[in-house]
Amino acid sequence: MTTQSAPAGGPGLAQRRRLVTPIPGPRSQELLARRTAAVARGVSNTLPVFITAAGGGVLVDADGNSLIDFGSGIAVTSVGNAAPRVAARVQEQVAQFTHTCFMVTPYEGYVAVCEALNRLTPGTHEKRSALFNSGAEAVENAVKIARHATGRQAVVAFEHAYHGRTNLTMALTAKNMPYKDKFGPFAGEVYRMPMAYPLRWPGGPAACAGEAFETVARGIHTQVGEENVAAVIIEPIQGEGGFVVPPEGFLPKLADYCRQHGILFIADEIQSGFCRTGDWFACDHEGVVPDLVTTAKGIAGGMPLAAVTGRAEIMDAVHSGGLGGTYGGNPVACAGALGAIETMEAEDLPQRARRIGDIMLPRLRKLAETYPLIVDVRGRGAMIAVELADPDTLEPDPAATQQVAHACHIAGLMVLTCGTYGNVLRFLPPLVIGEDLLEEGLSILEDAFAGL
Ligand SMILES: *Cc1c(COP(=O)(O)O)cnc(C)c1O
Repeated sequence: MTTQSAPAGGPGLAQRRRLVTPIPGPRSQELLARRTAAVARGVSNTLPVFITAAGGGVLVDADGNSLIDFGSGIAVTSVGNAAPRVAARVQEQVAQFTHTCFMVTPYEGYVAVCEALNRLTPGTHEKRSALFNSGAEAVENAVKIARHATGRQAVVAFEHAYHGRTNLTMALTAKNMPYKDKFGPFAGEVYRMPMAYPLRWPGGPAACAGEAFETVARGIHTQVGEENVAAVIIEPIQGEGGFVVPPEGFLPKLADYCRQHGILFIADEIQSGFCRTGDWFACDHEGVVPDLVTTAKGIAGGMPLAAVTGRAEIMDAVHSGGLGGTYGGNPVACAGALGAIETMEAEDLPQRARRIGDIMLPRLRKLAETYPLIVDVRGRGAMIAVELADPDTLEPDPAATQQVAHACHIAGLMVLTCGTYGNVLRFLPPLVIGEDLLEEGLSILEDAFAGL
């Protein structure tokens, strides 16, 4: 079989949906057979089309199909795939030097990324940052720093939380399948509290913020003891757990409570950060200022990079040599981050994210009027989801969710699912997607619901 010559990626790629074979096509199926023989089964694929180029709002596969991208590789390529500023800086850096280990001999790119993080994350206080390779590693380090700085051990996480797949972050993650099943024993001193989930709060959405906060405060008091808690960690909009948006007031109350008790407030902005929700960080929406912020995903246009940013006195509490890693803040990844951040500022991507939300939300709300199994439309900016359940009982409907996702996939629209109950369709388009493609993607979704 001949290999199709792939077009170059980036925004120059034709911004259109085009299907020339069934999905997945013969070339992808051939690669899938090799994949199955060579790659561990535990690493799954949402949609087995093998990508050869991507850019703007499209993914091009090995059969020459062009799909609309509503996933951004899980909220990573917010600036677009192969974004010009990212590609240029990465190419320049990779030809200069690829690695020294920042802990051995430093370089400017690492410092520049930390400066940008200190400037852009919530709050005007003095900050420090440290760089790592993955979101899970950033969360692990945030917990290490919080324990060291407070001299306390307990960490409080929430129902529906997702913080990663390493041992400590599995302990922080709420959902068993597929993330934790038979991978224990898990790290200790992790306590789980109810999440302010308006749709499913027993007392109803209006009571959710106040009641959820009281439940959490009481739970910490009775089960852990405030003085034993190093940190509370929360996603300001939950990601894998179902794009749960806490009601207004919940996060500010929680942050105030932490401050009163000497507990550090860690915002895990790995999915919600870097312009995704229409603000630079989701915490900005209610003016919440965390003590520590974890970032990754959207930070570097697809290069593997993650960070912990926090109050200078907390970050600097750790002794010299206490934090690090061989590759953390790799110079090529840092170049990617500087290109991505420059793009977000130059193209005002928070504004683009808000515009995407303004287009998507009304059409999805209209869809929910037609299909009562859409029991909730939620999210902010370009982090939007619909939850599918029985409208009377709220019994989750993961089967219909899978069916809609599959119908979208074979029609050439990349969508992702999520949720503790697997009944949430989530939409994370690149922030640079064209409005025509966005509207076309929504039409495909409407057709998918019509086909249920
Ligand atoms: C993806 C994610 C992580 C883990 O990041 P990895 O880079 O996959 O380790 C942690 N927290 C949140 C909120 C995430 O969405």
